Amino acid sequence: ITEAEQAVLDEIEENDIDFLRLQFTDILGTVKNVSVPARQAEKAFAEGIYFDGSSIEGFVRIQESDMRLVPDPNTFAILPWRNREDGASARMICDVYNTTSGEPFEGDPRRVLRNALDRAHEMGYKVNAAPEPEFFLFEEDEEGRATTTTNDAGGYFDLAPKDLASDVRRDIIYGLENMGFEVEASHHEVAEGQHEINFEYDDALTTADNVATFRTVVRAIAAQHDYHATFMPKPIPEINGSGMHTHISLFTEDGENAFHEEDDEFNLSEEARAFTAGILEHAPAITAVANPTVNSYKRLVPGYEAPVYVAWSDRNRSSLIRKPAARVPAASRVELRSPDPSCNPYLAIAVMIHAGLDGIEQDLECPDPVRENIYEFDEEKREEYGIDTLPANLGEAVDALEEDDAMFDALGEHIGEKFVEAKRQEFEEYLIDVSEWELDRYLETF
Ligand code: GLU
Ligand code: MG
Ligand code: MG
Repeated sequence: ITEAEQAVLDEIEENDIDFLRLQFTDILGTVKNVSVPARQAEKAFAEGIYFDGSSIEGFVRIQESDMRLVPDPNTFAILPWRNREDGASARMICDVYNTTSGEPFEGDPRRVLRNALDRAHEMGYKVNAAPEPEFFLFEEDEEGRATTTTNDAGGYFDLAPKDLASDVRRDIIYGLENMGFEVEASHHEVAEGQHEINFEYDDALTTADNVATFRTVVRAIAAQHDYHATFMPKPIPEINGSGMHTHISLFTEDGENAFHEEDDEFNLSEEARAFTAGILEHAPAITAVANPTVNSYKRLVPGYEAPVYVAWSDRNRSSLIRKPAARVPAASRVELRSPDPSCNPYLAIAVMIHAGLDGIEQDLECPDPVRENIYEFDEEKREEYGIDTLPANLGEAVDALEEDDAMFDALGEHIGEKFVEAKRQEFEEYLIDVSEWELDRYLETF
C-alpha cells in the first residue's frame, strides 16, 4: 500500500466516511459512479473494483463487459453537499482496466489524456492547464424542471442586488474549496444569468478531473438553491453562449516554463509558437472534440465573443487563440477559446496537447498575430490574411476529425470510432428534426 493510499484510509477513518463513490467518465464526458462501502477502500486499492462496462456509453461490447476500476488516491475528496448525518460520502476518480488483458482500457478517456501526457513527457515536458468554465443559472418550474428563465438580469462583473446569484455562487465556491479547489475568481458573465468561476491551473490530468468535478458540484449546489445550472453551450439565442477557454503551457522537467521567452515581443518562446501553430493546423478536428454537440455551433458564430476564425492574437476576443499578458514568466501560456463546457475535458485537453506537440515535433511555423477584430473582416480580407473558418456544424467537424489522422489517433481507435459514430448519429437526428423556428417561419406562410 502506498503512502497516498494510506493517507486516504486515514481520512476515511477520521471523517467517518460510510460510502465511497468510485468515479470515471464515459466517452461523452458524463460522470459515472459505482458506490461501495468505505471499508472496501483497501481492497479497491489492492485489486480494483469490478463492474459491468457493457451499459456505459461507448465502453465495450457485451461479450467482454468486465471492467476494473482502480481508484487514484490523489483524487480523494469528501462530497460537501451530502448531509453528514446520513453518513458522509467521499469520491475518488478511477482509471479503468480491462479484466481480460489486465491492461489499461483504451475506452477510458482518462487514459487518452494520460497517453498525451506520456508523449509530452517523452519530449521532456509537463503540461499545465487551466479552464474557464461558464454556465447559466436558470429558474425551475413548479415541477422542478429547468426553464430558460435566467435567475437575474445582471451583466459583466455586476454586483448584488442585480447579481442575485452571488449567494449561489458563494455556496458553489465553498463547495469547491471543500473539495480541494483553489478558486481564483468568480464573476457574473456578460449574459443575463451567466456566471464564470475560475480555478487555479494545475497539471493537465488534475485539471481534467477538476472540470468533471466542477460540473457535478455546480449542478448539485445550484439545485439546492432551486436553480438549474447548465453547461449547454448556447441555451439562449442572441446573447453570449458559454465557453470553456482553456489555458495551456508546457514546463520542462526542472520546472521552467518552456513557453516563456523574455526577449520576445509577446513573451512567447519558439516552442510556444510551434505549439500554437500545431493547434491552428489541427483546429477543425479539435473542434469536433472540444465542441461536441449540435448546440456548440450555435455559440461559434460572429458577434458573441466566441471564436469563429482560425487565428491567434495577443488581444482580441474574436480569434481562436489568445496570448494573455503574463505578469510573471510562469504565467506565459496560450489560451484556446473554442472549447465549450459540454466537452469531455479529458479528450479535449488530450487533442489540444497532441496538436501542439505535433507543431513542436514538425517545427510548424506560426503565422503572425491578427490584432484587428476579425468579426469585421469580409471573406476577401480573411483570404488575404490566410484566415480559415472553424467548422460550421457538428457534421463538418466530425468530417474534419476523420480526415485528420493525428487527431483521430490521439483518441485511439476505440474512442475515435465510437465518438465519430455517436456524433454522426447525433447530427443526423438533428438534421431530420423539424424545429420550432421552421414551424414559426413556414407553417402559416405556405
Ligand atoms: N462567453 C464567451 C464565449 O462564448 C466568452 C466571454 C469571455 O471572454 O469570457 O466564449
Ligand atoms: Mg468568460
Ligand atoms: Mg478567457
